[in-house]
Amino acid sequence: MNIEWDKLGFQFSRTKSNIRFHYADGRWSEGKLTGDFNISLSVAANVLHYGQAIFEGMKAFACKDGKIRIFRPQENAKRLNSSAHQLAMAEFPEERFVEAVREVVRDNAEYVPPYGTGGSLYIRPVMFGTQPQIGVNASNEYELVIMVMPVGAYYKNGIKPVDAMVSLDYDRAAPHGTGHVKAAGNYAASLLSSKICKEKYHCPVALFLDPATHTYVDEFSTSNFLAITKDGKYVTSLSNSILPSVTNKSLMDIASDLGMAVERRPVKATELPDFAEIAACGTAVVLTPVGRIFHGDKVYDYHLNEIGPVLKKLYDRMQAIQHGEVEDIHNWMVEA
Ligand SMILES: *Cc1c(COP(=O)(O)O)cnc(C)c1O
Repeated sequence: MNIEWDKLGFQFSRTKSNIRFHYADGRWSEGKLTGDFNISLSVAANVLHYGQAIFEGMKAFACKDGKIRIFRPQENAKRLNSSAHQLAMAEFPEERFVEAVREVVRDNAEYVPPYGTGGSLYIRPVMFGTQPQIGVNASNEYELVIMVMPVGAYYKNGIKPVDAMVSLDYDRAAPHGTGHVKAAGNYAASLLSSKICKEKYHCPVALFLDPATHTYVDEFSTSNFLAITKDGKYVTSLSNSILPSVTNKSLMDIASDLGMAVERRPVKATELPDFAEIAACGTAVVLTPVGRIFHGDKVYDYHLNEIGPVLKKLYDRMQAIQHGEVEDIHNWMVEA
């Protein structure tokens, strides 16, 4: 094995193993580690026709003391089950989920980017309905696969703000609020608007407003919205059509630890020009500062060339916790 750690991006790659569980007759099987990265599926499997498919994302880090630790896997266990519940899928025992994540990370320890490279091991659980069926019903059979892959430091040459665009033609979630689940279907529905933002307007990220009234800020296509006010408050959207981000939740705690006021509330789109700093946050990048937002014929400017000072403080603190460089006062890190 010969990985060039400094050349890694955010891409799928095969590692030594993934771990699999199957649900049938009302119970989950024992987990099985396998070096097989393909699946065999009935052409009538529920997932292909009716889209019972959910996923999760978290990371493991090589810490300063040489140990491998996973960032808040219990949160992903809980969220997987809330997604499963919303899509009428079988839930998975949370303790067992955390154990399975630890097991597959340990088995793939040689793929964890070493401390100092800035990389991490991305952990991607996916669960889907496998029962062959043509009638529209919840599947009686499911597969849970947890795969892992090394990913590189997202910001290799400093943190560069990106352009974002308010999606005016498409919504990310249905008005009744199914956007709070990490479901493949929600992503499928957001791909066209993201594609238009990228290809036609050269904006790497789309910002979605609430689907019912189009007056409040929901979230970006793959990450939560957070803003810093001119008087230094942390503001993030409260909405039932956004995904509850573990990164956002953790950054809110870090902001409080740093003495900042934190407001989780409905954010009006008309407030956008008044914020001092804006970012998209999620596991893949921690946070991406937004330099400009295009909103119809208006453009709002923030920190255009570099990350703003408050976001930088939050980002550095998160990185330090994840790599074991400062005390983990909230007990977020779980040894693999
Ligand atoms: C996964 C995801 C996020 C970020 O959640 P994290 O737990 O911080 O990774 C935000 N929005 C959407 C739509 C997501 O799917």
